[in-house]
Amino acid sequence: MTDVLTNNLSFWEKDTWFDQVDVAIIGSGLVGLSAAIAIKQQSPRLKVLVLERGALPSGASTKNAGFACFGSASELLDDLSKQGEELTWETVYMRWNGLRNLRELLGDAAIGYEGLGGYELFREADKDLYEASLDQLPELNRRLKEVIGKTAVFRPSNDKIGDFGFGGGAKHMILNSAEGQIHTGKMMLALTRKAQEVGVLLVHGITLTTLEQEEGGVVLVMSDGWKFKARKALLCTNGFAAQLMPQLDVVPARNQVLITQPIAGLKVNGCFHYDKGYFYLRNIDNRILIGGGRHLSPEVEQTAAFGTTELIRNALRDLLDTVFLPGVSWEEDFWWSGILGVGNSKKPLIEWVDTHIAVAVRMGGMGVAIGSLVGARGAKLISETL
Ligand SMILES: Cc1cc2nc3c(=O)[nH]c(=O)nc-3n(C[C@H](O)[C@H](O)[C@H](O)COP(=O)(O)OP(=O)(O)OC[C@H]3O[C@@H](n4cnc5c(N)ncnc54)[C@H](O)[C@@H]3O)c2cc1C
Repeated sequence: MTDVLTNNLSFWEKDTWFDQVDVAIIGSGLVGLSAAIAIKQQSPRLKVLVLERGALPSGASTKNAGFACFGSASELLDDLSKQGEELTWETVYMRWNGLRNLRELLGDAAIGYEGLGGYELFREADKDLYEASLDQLPELNRRLKEVIGKTAVFRPSNDKIGDFGFGGGAKHMILNSAEGQIHTGKMMLALTRKAQEVGVLLVHGITLTTLEQEEGGVVLVMSDGWKFKARKALLCTNGFAAQLMPQLDVVPARNQVLITQPIAGLKVNGCFHYDKGYFYLRNIDNRILIGGGRHLSPEVEQTAAFGTTELIRNALRDLLDTVFLPGVSWEEDFWWSGILGVGNSKKPLIEWVDTHIAVAVRMGGMGVAIGSLVGARGAKLISETL
C-alpha cells in the first residue's frame, strides 16, 4: 500500500457522500446552510453537499454577538453619505428581510430571539454626531416606514441612560425600537438541524483547496487529496473567500469578544452600540458580552487568523469599568474571536464567477441579519440553472 492511498475514500464513502453531487456548498456558516436548505426546499431530489473545514462552523456564524440589527441612526447616515440612497436602503431591506426569513424558518423560540431594542450611545466627544443624527431622525423614520413597514423606529432615549446604570462615558442615547437579539449558538444548532431534516449532507473537518471548472461541472479538491465532481458549486466562505478566489473584493476582519461571569443585579438589558459602532455590548441573561475595537489596530485585525491582543482586551475591559459597568464588580469568563468578511461595499457579493461556480460572500458586520437572505439568493442563482 503506498502513502497516496492512506487517506483514500472507501467505495461506500464515495458512493454515499461524494458521487453524483448536484450542488457543493463550501462553508457551513449561516449563509452556506441557508443556501443549502433553500435549494433542498425548492428541489428535494437534488443532492446538496455542504463542506466545512471545522468541527463546528469556523468563521463568524457561531462566534458573533447575536445582534439582530440593520443599522444605527449614525451608521445609516454614514452609509447614506458614502454609498448613496439606493444602496443603503437596499441593504437595509436585505437585512430586515434576512431576519424575517430566519425567524420564520426556525421560529423565535429556537433562536432565542428577543426584541429588546438596540441603543446607540454617544460620548461628549460625539455631541455633533448625536445632534446631526437627531436632526435626521424624522427622515430616517420616514424611509424606514417605507422599507421595513415600522413607524417611529428611532427615538431619542437619554432618559434611559440611568436605568441601565451607565457611567459618564455615555451622554446621549438613541433607541432603535426594531432591533433585537438572538442566541447565536441556538440559532446555528437549529439551522443545522433544519438542514439535516430537509436532507442536506454535511461533512465537517474537510478543507477545500481548489475548485476547477470542467465540462459539465466543477472538480473540488480537498486538503487530504479527496476529489469529487459537482454540477454546481457555491462558495459561502465569507471572510476566507479570497483564500480560494483572490480576485474577490473581500478581506477578513477579526473581531474579539469578551463575556463576563453572571453579574448580580445587572441593569443592562438590550443591545448597545458605542463610539460610532466600533464597540458593541449586550446582555445574555445576567452576563455582559462586549466586543469590537478593531479600529484600534486595523492592520493587525485585518487577518483570517483567530486570536486576541492585549491592546483590544484592555480597551474592552476599560469600557466595562468606565462606561457600561461603573462601580460594578465583574469577572471575565470567556474570550474568543471570529472573522468577518468586508470590502469596498457593504452590499454582499452574490454572483457567478464562472459557468458552474457562484459566490455568496461579504456579509460585513450585520451578517446575522442579512445572511439568511443572501443564502436564499445564492440558492436561487444555482437553482435557476439546474
Ligand atoms: C465577533 C463577531 C461578532 C459579530 N456580531 C454580529 C452581530 O451581532 N450581528 C450581526 O448581524 N452580525 C455579526 N457578525 C457578523 C456575522 O456573524 C457574519 O457576517 C455571518 O455569520 C457570516 O456568515 P457566513 O456564513 O457568510 O460566514 P461564516 O460564518 O464565516 O462561514 C464561513 C465558513 O466557511 C468555512 N470555510 C472557510 N474556508 C473553507 C474551506 N476552504 N473549506 C471548507 N470550509 C471553509 C469556515 O470554516 C466557516 O465556517 C459578527 C461577526 C463576528 C466575527
